[in-house]
Amino acid sequence: MLVEVLKVAGVDVDVADFICENDVGQRLISTAFLPYYLGIWEARAESSDSESHEERGVKINDRLSESRVFVNSIVLRERFSNKANFLGQEDWPGEARWLSNGCLVLFSIVLLGEALAIANSRIYSFTILIKFETLELVDRLLLKVGWCANEVASIKQRSDNSEAYYLSLIDRHHLGRSHKSCSIQDPSIVLNWTKEQCSADQIKEHDYCTKHSSELCNCRHISVDEFLGQDLFRVLSRRQAPLILVHRDAYNSISYCSIVSSRLRGLSSWVRYFWKLARWFFRSTSRIFINRVHSRKLPKPSPVIPFVAISHVWADGLGNVKRNSLPECQLLSIQNMVNNLYGMTSEPVAFWIDTICVPHDPRWRKLAIIEMNRVYREADKVLVLDMALRKVSLHCAPEEALLRIKYSNWARRLWTLPEGALANNLIFQLKDGTISGEELIK
Ligand SMILES: [Zn+2]
Ligand SMILES: [Zn+2]
Repeated sequence: MLVEVLKVAGVDVDVADFICENDVGQRLISTAFLPYYLGIWEARAESSDSESHEERGVKINDRLSESRVFVNSIVLRERFSNKANFLGQEDWPGEARWLSNGCLVLFSIVLLGEALAIANSRIYSFTILIKFETLELVDRLLLKVGWCANEVASIKQRSDNSEAYYLSLIDRHHLGRSHKSCSIQDPSIVLNWTKEQCSADQIKEHDYCTKHSSELCNCRHISVDEFLGQDLFRVLSRRQAPLILVHRDAYNSISYCSIVSSRLRGLSSWVRYFWKLARWFFRSTSRIFINRVHSRKLPKPSPVIPFVAISHVWADGLGNVKRNSLPECQLLSIQNMVNNLYGMTSEPVAFWIDTICVPHDPRWRKLAIIEMNRVYREADKVLVLDMALRKVSLHCAPEEALLRIKYSNWARRLWTLPEGALANNLIFQLKDGTISGEELIK
């Protein structure tokens, strides 16, 4: 496959470059020179005329399609047959079957095919990316490090073998998620995954538990309902964003919390509707009446305060289904992360989090939910808090950070998607710092 594809691309291959010897003199296949050959391929393609460029792209795609049909037939036979694998090894028991030499060789062929297919689709942008079947080996490795079978089925649909293999190197056991009651237990039997969700991500009101920042912590809950509820309602009634400020004392405890408000610049959808209606009405009445309306003194609006909106996954434990409260340790931690976004600040920076700022009283709750889009759109920054991402070091490669974000619980939730899309400045909190969406895309 390698020699054939590069030959069509006009690249001469020295097969010896792909063979090396290990310490005990065994001859192995190595792809150490593959990037070098891909570079020559790209340079050749750039210097060729448009007619031969197109012809080569189509021919290589045909070769890769033929390889895919052949490889996929072996992969599917491996997956569904308990008998001999394609190297003729008979009846491997349990784990040994998908870790056998035959499967590992097949895996390396598939990875090579994917690398060539990606190179082809980038060099000849008019071609379609050829997709290879995912090996059972990848399913098993992902399950072994703690991914849910539902997640594995989803990963298989959204990625290729190399991306899935990379994800299988990320240990997920420390997240403490149980998948015993999840709808799928064996991803290898799922051919067409239909959005079955992981039960660990589902919020069950009757047993939802707000978490402290560490398992051993047992600090008090700080509740907005008791002292600041009226402030919250007052801000909401003015169609403004209620924000919380957490003030710390000398002993690193909360001395007090306050609710402040920020004027939301854009009009909410229902205000926009009534404004249109009012304009239509005023236009249809006398001019004098319009002048009188315009000359009325309007109340002075609140200032626009720069604030941070928190976007989080409820399954991580930062929600509260009963009250507008959070443990003291969590509020201090969030305020700290928010302040750090602005460097050294003597005064805390206001933030918005649904757990505190969306009341449970149905009358006010509805109003707060209507305004949520504007809150995320007009926040100075939107800070993403996801338990798995908060274990990732800031010093990892940008590709790794992007991949972890792509498969994070935050990116999979229906609620958090618009929160991220509306943000002017989307920031992800990692273990030892933050990274912005813009930095990642660069
Ligand atoms: Zn699950
Ligand atoms: Zn605590």
